[in-house]
Amino acid sequence: MATTDDSFDGMTEHCDDCGTQTPHQVSVQIRTESRKEENAQFSREPYRVSECQHCGSRSSQRMNNA
Ligand SMILES: [Zn+2]
Repeated sequence: MATTDDSFDGMTEHCDDCGTQTPHQVSVQIRTESRKEENAQFSREPYRVSECQHCGSRSSQRMNNA
């Protein structure tokens, strides 16, 4: 068995607003970014979005750390 012992379908992460570990719902969004120097070219970046199930605070983080 893996480490899926949560009954909640999500992850427990630290929430800055709550100041403690809370259950988070994690999803991945693809965002299209345009860069000033490459106007004609759009890059699609996957973002990891986690939403605190306690206070509803959302935080997103780019998955490609380039
Ligand atoms: Zn929170």
